[in-house]
Amino acid sequence: MAEIGPAEAIFAAPAHPYTRALLSAIPEPDPVIARQASRIRLGGEPPSPLDPPPGCLFHTRCPKSDGTTCHTVPPHLTEKRPHQRAACHHPEPVPRNGERPGRPPRRFRPAGNPARTGSARRCRS
Ligand code: SF4
Repeated sequence: MAEIGPAEAIFAAPAHPYTRALLSAIPEPDPVIARQASRIRLGGEPPSPLDPPPGCLFHTRCPKSDGTTCHTVPPHLTEKRPHQRAACHHPEPVPRNGERPGRPPRRFRPAGNPARTGSARRCRS
């Protein structure tokens, strides 16, 4: 388990680098929002389930791996933010205003979200 918490909180501010990468891969049907979003492309090799690496299982692909602790000490699920736990030694920072760590599905977007309302088209009649 990489991360656990309320869906809205995780979509708004994922703490685990893998969660952040997964959220960046969600297809965005709105072309205006899609042009603004950046996808995180993971390098490295997926770890072998038959011979898992020591330390963090994600360290072979993680862009934030420190090369020492991540390679030797398995991270445990700990609270990184209120009600949000992640198994990571170097969790993602809380995004500043205007940053979009992930592209939440429309059902999680709050009403009045500028990313949603900014692309609304006006009808001319
Ligand atoms: S513990 Fe290290 S390798 Fe694992 S997800 Fe966190 S930063 Fe990446």
